[in-house]
Amino acid sequence: MSREIPNLINAKAVMSSSSEKGSVLNPLNQEVICTFPYSTDSEMDAAVASAEKAFETWKETPLPARARLFLRYQELLKKHQDEIAKILAEENGKTFADAQGDVWRGIEVVEHAANISSLIMGETVENVATKIDCYSHRHPIGVCAGITPFNFPAMIPLWQFPMAIACGNTFVMKPSEQDPQTPMRLAELFYEAGAPEGILNVVHGGKDQVNYLLKDPRIKSISFVGSEKVARHVYQTGCQNLKRVQAFSGAKNHMIVLPDAHKEQVINNLVGASCGAAGQRCMAISVAVLVGESQNWIPEITEKIKTLTVGAWDNTKADLGPLVTPQAKDRVQALIQGGEAEGAKLLVDGSEFVHPDYPKGNFIGPTLFDEVHHEMKLYQEEIFGPVLLLVRKNSLDEAIEFINKNPFGNGASIFTRSGYAAREFQNRIEAGHVGINIPIPVPLPFFNFGGWKASMYGSSNSYGKPAVHFFTRIKTMTTRWFDEDSSAEAPHMTIHLK
Ligand code: NAD
Repeated sequence: MSREIPNLINAKAVMSSSSEKGSVLNPLNQEVICTFPYSTDSEMDAAVASAEKAFETWKETPLPARARLFLRYQELLKKHQDEIAKILAEENGKTFADAQGDVWRGIEVVEHAANISSLIMGETVENVATKIDCYSHRHPIGVCAGITPFNFPAMIPLWQFPMAIACGNTFVMKPSEQDPQTPMRLAELFYEAGAPEGILNVVHGGKDQVNYLLKDPRIKSISFVGSEKVARHVYQTGCQNLKRVQAFSGAKNHMIVLPDAHKEQVINNLVGASCGAAGQRCMAISVAVLVGESQNWIPEITEKIKTLTVGAWDNTKADLGPLVTPQAKDRVQALIQGGEAEGAKLLVDGSEFVHPDYPKGNFIGPTLFDEVHHEMKLYQEEIFGPVLLLVRKNSLDEAIEFINKNPFGNGASIFTRSGYAAREFQNRIEAGHVGINIPIPVPLPFFNFGGWKASMYGSSNSYGKPAVHFFTRIKTMTTRWFDEDSSAEAPHMTIHLK
């Protein structure tokens, strides 16, 4: 019998009294892995109240003590990396190697949170006027909330709560209902590392629980990662309720291929970046813009994409696993069928792929379309499946112009040996993350991560070091230092400007 996953309120696992439950299904065979509650309003209230109470003491906790908590936490995460990756792979479907990477990219942020003392320093300027100094401190903002998507169930929660909490805030997390066990395990380990009661609370559910968080006046900031429509709703509603909001949204990432690029590198990178993790990455390359003679490589791209191995998470030879749910599979299948009807040329069709060992699995095999055009739904929508679209252009200028017309701007890359072309691309492309001879340019936490245009609403001070700006507010002090005899005129020098 499957177990029900509890909420985590005030450091205790609490079974929900909600009569409304959902199920997490194994993407390989549709067996129920666990159930989760759509938490009641009173449970939501209890989670926020716990975070609000904990804030009173946590904000006063000395920085080195906060930092040490994250040192212990990163040690525990490393120790449990494979155990977490297994939970993750089973409920999400991605391969074990991808799942390990998911956990690892989160650990990197936790390592950064352990440096909070140096990241949160204020600024000082002495003598802004005679005997007057000006300096600023960073203060936490209060109870912060995080809402996460299914596709990186370890990395994205770890983008959010460690930096928020290291800055002195407390946190309420509403993880994706599609793979909630992984974030729960992260939260359990956080308490095992010694987190004080109530600084992190986890409540399960879907849109009603998100809307509760968006409206509760005790919550001061919202960190959201998910699809564009929901990101827009979260941003608009959160702002209407006067919260700070960062809403990371959907994507359609392009890779320009110039004919001077190294052919084999292009083909290997393109195929991996489009179909790896079954295309369920916000930074997946979903469109290759082939310029001029690089269009002659299409037969080799076609052959290469057919060699990818589709399999279960524990098959070490598998390049990609199933999609997360049957609904996700149906959506991708419909887009593939629609793309053909719209006139795109289907070179490799993975839409009917059936795995012999897992006939009920949510598999879609690698899929390749050529002759894709701007107005097609196939191009306009984020597919979020192992589907690569090929677009043909005659020049770098045409390729850049084409990409910049796309409403999304999460990532974009170019493969070329020309320094001139690379620099033109770097300067003119409208995307938050740019790769030059790298297909998926995801920076480490000392840099910013945040898309442009419809890929990001609100503050892009996302994770690691830049997140300190989002999770703190600045207090600036101006102080005049009187002499003991305050009537004495302050000494000064006269500067004679010629
Ligand atoms: P999703 O938008 O369906 O769900 C994200 C979260 O929002 C979940 O916690 C869900 O419960 C909640 N939610 C869903 N519908 C809602 C509604 N109507 N009102 C309020 N809350 C709602 O996204 P997903 O399918 O879990 O994740 C995939 C998406 O996330 C893709 O679009 C992907 O590009 C995007 N993503 C973006 C980034 C980035 O950095 N830009 C990173 C990862 C994923």
